[in-house]
Amino acid sequence: MSWGFETEPEFQKELDWITEFVRDEVEPLDHILGNPYDIQNPRNRKIVPKLQKQVRQRGLWACHLGPELGGPGYGQLKLALMNEILGRSRFASIVFGCQAPDTGNSEILAHYGSPELKERFLTPLLNNEIVSCFSMTEPHAGADPKMFKCKAERDGDQWVINGQKWFSSNARWASFLIVMAVTDPDAAPYQSMSMFVVPADTPGINIIRNVGIGEESEDEGDHAYISYEDVRIPADHILGGPGQGFEVAQTRLGGGRIHHAMRTIGQVKKSFDLMCERVLSRETQGEILANKQMVQEKIADSWIEIEQFRLLVLQTAWRIDKYKDYRKVRKDIAAVKAQMPKVFHDVACRALYLHGSLGVSNEMPFSKQITESFVMGLADGPTEVHKVTVARQVLREYEGTKGLFPTGHLPALREQAIQKYGEMLELAVGNL
Ligand SMILES: Cc1cc2nc3c(=O)[nH]c(=O)nc-3n(C[C@H](O)[C@H](O)[C@H](O)COP(=O)(O)OP(=O)(O)OC[C@H]3O[C@@H](n4cnc5c(N)ncnc54)[C@H](O)[C@@H]3O)c2cc1C
Repeated sequence: MSWGFETEPEFQKELDWITEFVRDEVEPLDHILGNPYDIQNPRNRKIVPKLQKQVRQRGLWACHLGPELGGPGYGQLKLALMNEILGRSRFASIVFGCQAPDTGNSEILAHYGSPELKERFLTPLLNNEIVSCFSMTEPHAGADPKMFKCKAERDGDQWVINGQKWFSSNARWASFLIVMAVTDPDAAPYQSMSMFVVPADTPGINIIRNVGIGEESEDEGDHAYISYEDVRIPADHILGGPGQGFEVAQTRLGGGRIHHAMRTIGQVKKSFDLMCERVLSRETQGEILANKQMVQEKIADSWIEIEQFRLLVLQTAWRIDKYKDYRKVRKDIAAVKAQMPKVFHDVACRALYLHGSLGVSNEMPFSKQITESFVMGLADGPTEVHKVTVARQVLREYEGTKGLFPTGHLPALREQAIQKYGEMLELAVGNL
């Protein structure tokens, strides 16, 4: 029997190193550099590669990858423990070579890419010499991919892509985009689409604007609204076969969602740490905030919610490692995905509020975190859709009753109990 909540000492040493390294070397970058994915920016180039080198030397580069792709093959549980530290910093994932969406895109390329595509895109992607984009959502439809309209038509030895995509994160920095497009509109919805690798310098890719979130300036965000106009790519740039778009998408989404959740723990803990520090420092009516019971409730609720969420994430990671089949952990991943924005939102809101006017100001991170919590509810599909998945999966483990009354109907249960033990009880009474 093994059912433990302890980290083995060897790996704990690595986690301690990561904690210190992220806090001292990486977190400062969040305050002075722009976008982590702007990898060619001379300011980023001055510092980030040096830190990446230290991570490689420590053997902690690209820990989401198995040895066949140059990673240590730690599995999801160890990755979860690492990612909850990396989640504290915007730059940490890129410094450790495990940033979304490149992680998922590299998985797709590794699974479905031709040898040429792998050489041209996968190898430099894994080395963070380039970054990538996943271009699926459309302006008129997101949560329901069956409604996508962007199409790819075969013309000789090429595919020709036409349509619009929206919220294609990091397209402005990407060397290639993975694009989902309709290839057979007459097929059943889940067989109607295919996935393509589109080099970013292909003529016809027009970024209409880079949409920002929250307070970001117009056209200075990272989420591209793209028009694909007669974008021609070679026939072998399809990933999987025609009609396999959904199957290919699933390869990346399971891992992507749990990785977001692991990093979110780091973000939430950061808010929580600040909240605790504040209530122990700020005084009102002759005592520190921490002495007020309504404040204590906020601390207690936050701690409980974080612990519950963290355990769910770790258990899910453990199950992924155990089953090595994302289909067997759909319910767990959907539950994690559904719970993530709520915990993030609720803790960040309490932290903001307990900091008073300072909390709502742009001198603290909370309002950004609250926006980010909504992002976590939307990116990779809205919460409602994941709750539906959880409910459907849970209900598969049950069946309805055939009779008029439920199986928990007390009169029937009592009757059954009498039939089972009544005689023994009468005997017992008779012996008294
Ligand atoms: C910061 C950010 C980054 C993103 N990055 C990418 C990216 O890189 N690539 C990419 O392709 N996409 C990306 N997305 C898009 C994301 O996947 C979509 O926003 C998401 O799938 C929801 O689609 P939508 O925005 O069109 O919302 P809609 O589909 O219009 O849904 C709006 C709302 O309707 C409700 N709703 C929807 N469906 C249901 C349902 N079945 N039951 C009950 N209620 C429902 C929910 O409340 C939902 O929030 C990103 C989004 C954000 C915010």
